Amino acid sequence: MQKLKEFIDNYKDFPKKGIEFKDVLGIMQEPDVFKELIHKMSKSELINNAEAIISIEARGFIFGSGISLYSSKPILFARKPGKLPGEIVKEEYNLEYGKNTLSIQKKALKKYKSFVIVDDLLATGGTVECVAKILRKNNKKISGLLTVVELTNLEGRKNFNFPIESLLQF
Ligand code: AMP
Repeated sequence: MQKLKEFIDNYKDFPKKGIEFKDVLGIMQEPDVFKELIHKMSKSELINNAEAIISIEARGFIFGSGISLYSSKPILFARKPGKLPGEIVKEEYNLEYGKNTLSIQKKALKKYKSFVIVDDLLATGGTVECVAKILRKNNKKISGLLTVVELTNLEGRKNFNFPIESLLQF
């Protein structure tokens, strides 16, 4: 999986000065690499130990959907405001570069008791904490976080008491 790093482009000062943006979208132009990655993530115990996947907008949807197909686990979507119809639950959070809100559809959330969180990248952990907060407030169990990239210098994982698995560390 180390060869994965070749397909992750680094952009200095994007979207703000001082941020080095890791773009995972290059992986999607390498279907065989993408397939291997999805296969590997799908076999994680964190997936096995959860009833459903909760993926985070927007890149988390790509990986979450692939894992859902391979693992036959249902998938939910944590989205930015104004995107999801029907009753929603929402929380605000701080990003490495700004503030945001995430919402989840109540109807879908009600169906499952335990979740694995899937995203493309763990930076400060603010985004994941937001989803974890919604899950905890709704009495859901969290099997863990599964992510493609982890920026270890930001020590995001220190904020969580559930297991975290990342395929690549920078
Ligand atoms: P955080 O809440 O700080 O852990 O940020 C994680 C979320 O923001 C992920 O969904 C990423 O898509 C995005 N993100 C934050 N920092 C970066 C970065 N340096 N490169 C790429 N994406 C990032």
